[in-house]
Amino acid sequence: MVRGRYAPSPTGDLHLGNLRTALLAWLFARREQGQFVLRVEDLDQPRVRASATQSMLNDLRWLGLDWDEGPGVGGPYAPYTQSERLEIYEIYLKRLQNADLVYPCYCSRAEIVHAASAPQQGAEDGPRYPGTCRYLTTRERSQRERMRRPSLRLRVPDESEVAFTDLVMGPMTQHVQQAVGDFIIRRSDSIFAYQFAVVVDDALMQINQVVRGADLLSSTARQILLFQLLGFPIPTFAHVPLILDATGKRLSKRDGSTGLAPLRAAGQTPQHIIGQLATSCSLQPNGTLLTPHQLLAVFSQHRYGIMRTE
Ligand code: GLU
Repeated sequence: MVRGRYAPSPTGDLHLGNLRTALLAWLFARREQGQFVLRVEDLDQPRVRASATQSMLNDLRWLGLDWDEGPGVGGPYAPYTQSERLEIYEIYLKRLQNADLVYPCYCSRAEIVHAASAPQQGAEDGPRYPGTCRYLTTRERSQRERMRRPSLRLRVPDESEVAFTDLVMGPMTQHVQQAVGDFIIRRSDSIFAYQFAVVVDDALMQINQVVRGADLLSSTARQILLFQLLGFPIPTFAHVPLILDATGKRLSKRDGSTGLAPLRAAGQTPQHIIGQLATSCSLQPNGTLLTPHQLLAVFSQHRYGIMRTE
């Protein structure tokens, strides 16, 4: 049984790009008669907006997307909101610590940028971590502890070449130690890192199909490594293209890209929006009006490769 999910962060209203990803994740799961889980990824509390969760859920429901487990529905793997799962993350952090796979890091961002010999090409997450704090002595650690609260980094093995086949993007390989280095699993402000929490949640919620935006393709090798180190089965991945604005920049909640509210106010119906989203990934001709279930019938006939065309 396929178990897919959509896992938005409530940092603002969902824009059309987020909604298209949600729709595609729903279609991928439903075309296999699979289950669909909704999870609220609100760990980064400083960036969370109070009303955003409710309006995200309202928008998804208004469009006609449903979920079998998640907020408002419950389910066997509750809670489905990350900020209510901190004790669970502690357990899995302990597991990594017990295996000596975690160490404290006292570097500031500026120090890491400075220490990196060459900036990592195309890395969205900054330069590779050169391992500065990996081999500190106990004495050095306690000295630094007095100056700064540490983040926690995963000791990425040297043999960390990860290969996977993305359902949309095709075969991918990344050598995690060479490309990213030891990465953060808990930040210095004690917030669990996305990379870590998402793996624990996908594993415990029995997710075996991850469909999400292509901006997260570069995180996938790190996550597969964590699945392996924690002894969890690895899901299949499908990274779907992001919607770009007229200037070729991807939509962003931060830039206030259009959410549903103005479209709804202008009289657009869910069928209009689903039609537009379907057109934008070449699933329907321009001007079609349809529900997610009507689109599902079409989507079930398509190969995943269709998503490559905008
Ligand atoms: N919470 C992440 C976001 O909103 C998505 C995480 C994921 O799908 O793995 O960008």
